[in-house]
Amino acid sequence: MNYSNYQPIPNLPMLDLPKVVIVGGGFAGLKLAMSLRKSAFQVILLDKNNYHQFQPLFYQVATAGLEPSAISFPLRKIFHGAANMSFRMAEAEGVDAKEKRLYTDIGYIDYDYLVLAMGADTNYFGAKNIEYYSTPMKTVSEALYIRNKIISNYERAITIEKVENRKSLMNMVIVGGGPTGVELAGAMADLRNNVLPKDYPELNFKNMKVVLIEAGPKLLGAMSEQAQSSALHYLQELGVEVFLATKVLDYDGKEVSLEGKEPIQTQTLLWAAGIKPNRIEGFDPSQYAGNGRMLVNEYNQLVGSAGVFVLGDQCLLPGGDFPKGHPQVAQVAIQQAKNLSKNLFRQEKGQPLAPFKYKDLGSMATVGRKLAVVDLPFYSFQGFFAWLTWLFVHLMAILGVKNKLVIFLDWSWNYLSFDPSLRLLIKPKYVRASERKELIEEKSSPD
Ligand SMILES: Cc1cc2nc3c(=O)[nH]c(=O)nc-3n(C[C@H](O)[C@H](O)[C@H](O)COP(=O)(O)OP(=O)(O)OC[C@H]3O[C@@H](n4cnc5c(N)ncnc54)[C@H](O)[C@@H]3O)c2cc1C
Repeated sequence: MNYSNYQPIPNLPMLDLPKVVIVGGGFAGLKLAMSLRKSAFQVILLDKNNYHQFQPLFYQVATAGLEPSAISFPLRKIFHGAANMSFRMAEAEGVDAKEKRLYTDIGYIDYDYLVLAMGADTNYFGAKNIEYYSTPMKTVSEALYIRNKIISNYERAITIEKVENRKSLMNMVIVGGGPTGVELAGAMADLRNNVLPKDYPELNFKNMKVVLIEAGPKLLGAMSEQAQSSALHYLQELGVEVFLATKVLDYDGKEVSLEGKEPIQTQTLLWAAGIKPNRIEGFDPSQYAGNGRMLVNEYNQLVGSAGVFVLGDQCLLPGGDFPKGHPQVAQVAIQQAKNLSKNLFRQEKGQPLAPFKYKDLGSMATVGRKLAVVDLPFYSFQGFFAWLTWLFVHLMAILGVKNKLVIFLDWSWNYLSFDPSLRLLIKPKYVRASERKELIEEKSSPD
């Protein structure tokens, strides 16, 4: 890429402070930016969206349990009253690490410290048909798209006379038996069992399959055996068909073909089977691990590029307790950001840096409306109490008092009524200026 015609990003304040440019306002980037509020650094946060997204609750947006705004947080809000901070909605494109210059779609910016915290995107492992026809869930817009797609499918299914012809619109297939797949499958089964039959009494929901497919031998591969077997049991109780050790071979938008099993008709294939780190141009291939994560040392410094740090899902620190890298979860991103903020202060003062040490706080996944599995470092538990624990932890983690309140009210309502009320099909429609003019003229015409 040729950046010779790029101009500096305009209107950024010129402060006489070391400049920290953070790319990505996800868990890591946002935590770091917040820790540097009102500090002796000039902080410029860039993100291609102007909001932070709380990914653990995407599945609730996709299944009509929560509004997208309840799990999104405007990034500019964190900068209120902090003169050392600026936000720009911009997509990072490339870097010249020797010049300490970052190129973005709104111009370039020079930095003293560059922090890449760009997270990851969906990985289809090269399966082009699956990429084309399936639906991912890595952004809040994709979660909303799933919600709209499911509702549109039912509005179409109810107009189709032959049961056989409705099948592909009604069946849901989810690929990937990690926490996202398990949570989606449980929530879809709850919709199928309790909500959709009331909305579409003319359709027979015994004909609707919710299928969860996992290539490995177990669900929730990274969790304890109790968590794995309880999650499987809970899903089967909800009527989810779980296919373990099953590979998806292909998908044409109507039928999924599976290795060694009958194909399944579905127009809704939700792909939660893998992620790949986001990247920008300008780094050497030797700075990446085979899976695309950027290689960092114990201070999250990118190997081979002074002044560049990488956090969260995008980085890989090999060796130690996690030879293949830390798990790509929110706590790793947050803890790395906290450590880096302390190290930036230490570096400015010429003090020795502290290495990153991950404190595993445990993992959890919910299954349906009132069950969950929780693994704490020394104790695992499952069932209703685990679900209450899951609710509490997620409510505390959500940013913003208003979001917490909205989510608490939505969850209480959904739990008591079993009737999530967000099943509106709102499709934004763009009307061209010329058409708007015609419409106005039409309306104001005397006849
Ligand atoms: C559906 C789902 C459910 C999950 N559930 C859990 C869970 O229950 N518990 C858990 O611990 N983890 C969960 N995770 C994983 C967790 O969300 C990630 O590990 C975490 O978000 C990583 O944080 P991060 O800061 O590295 O990246 P992210 O939080 O993904 O943030 C990356 C940011 O970078 C921005 N960005 C990307 N590219 C560019 C660019 N070129 N220019 C500018 N900005 C850019 C993005 O817009 C985004 O805001 C889940 C993930 C998904 C997708």
